[in-house]
Amino acid sequence: MVSPRDLVREDILQLSPYHVPDAGCMVKLDAMENPYALPEPLRALVSEVAREAALNRYPDPSASRLKSRLRSAMAIPPGMEVAVGNGSDEIIQMICLALARPGAKVMSVEPTFVMFRMIATYAGMGYTAVPLGEGFALDADAMIRAMEVHRPAVVFLAYPNNPTGNLFDADAVDAVIGRAPGLVVVDEAYHAFAGRTCMDRLASRPNLLVMRTLSKLGLAGLRLGLVAGAPAWLAEIDKLRLPYNVNTLSQLLAERIMAEPEALLAQAAAIREARSGLFQALSRLPGVDPYPSDANFILFRVAGADRVFAGLKSRGVLIKNLSGSHPRLADCLRVTVGTPEENGTFLEALRATLAA
Ligand code: PMP
Repeated sequence: MVSPRDLVREDILQLSPYHVPDAGCMVKLDAMENPYALPEPLRALVSEVAREAALNRYPDPSASRLKSRLRSAMAIPPGMEVAVGNGSDEIIQMICLALARPGAKVMSVEPTFVMFRMIATYAGMGYTAVPLGEGFALDADAMIRAMEVHRPAVVFLAYPNNPTGNLFDADAVDAVIGRAPGLVVVDEAYHAFAGRTCMDRLASRPNLLVMRTLSKLGLAGLRLGLVAGAPAWLAEIDKLRLPYNVNTLSQLLAERIMAEPEALLAQAAAIREARSGLFQALSRLPGVDPYPSDANFILFRVAGADRVFAGLKSRGVLIKNLSGSHPRLADCLRVTVGTPEENGTFLEALRATLAA
């Protein structure tokens, strides 16, 4: 009898599945979601769009209306092409599949977003990560040296970085783009909370691609990511997109909602505001050491992180335990910025756990 061991690729057999914990009815501050529901006028729009959608038909395979809306909403420079994905995870996958020549490598930094490594593995590519420097800064010299040795087909940089929350120095990013032997993909998933972008550098940097997502802006359930860059690159990457990868409802809803993004941007502004309050509150707790963040989450260090994580969970608050995932993240936990009430509940639970 044939078994998976006989047929499945050796590197896939070795993988552990990506685990997403069930939050049940806990305060959910583990996944960098926008904590606010869609505001009322947009909810009415959702009903209207859903009622009228031609669900008997396949989606628009080119997603042309959506793409033109995203061009203006995301200030994609004229002359650049756009591709959409079922979340930006799928865009990372399309890019890797397109570049997975035998021996081709992916490079990033560490610690960073784990899907860069995982998707490189899915695509059968090698993966190298260059350690971040002091304060999780991008070490451009180390990157340039590593790029000379490994000649990566693509370098992924999350800007701001997950799970550390910081924006890398713009000149360091530019130095990496300028010296890279291949593509550099700047992943701006947390752009709404950061206020800096590489989008305006696309015209002068022909090996640069910029990714965005609607997930952190309040539309994680729609699963919509995008990548912008030079048409010659996008034409190849788009060949890896399955014909109907973005479903009809996601296309229609994203197109309509991004026509009037003010309400979501106001929520992002409220989250940024709450982030500074949460940061200050964490800084004041003895033994808790938060890292400055340009994203909608805060990484913090606390002695006995496993115990603290479990204590929070037993008090009904789910955050992310990163301790043990990387040596630089020993005793680190990551909390997503929630509503003021959720942040209060989290801080209360943290105080109680630390005092126990
Ligand atoms: N990039 C980064 C840096 C992320 O942290 C995440 C989500 N955690 C993603 C991409 C994936 O986002 P999406 O929901 O668009 O797949």
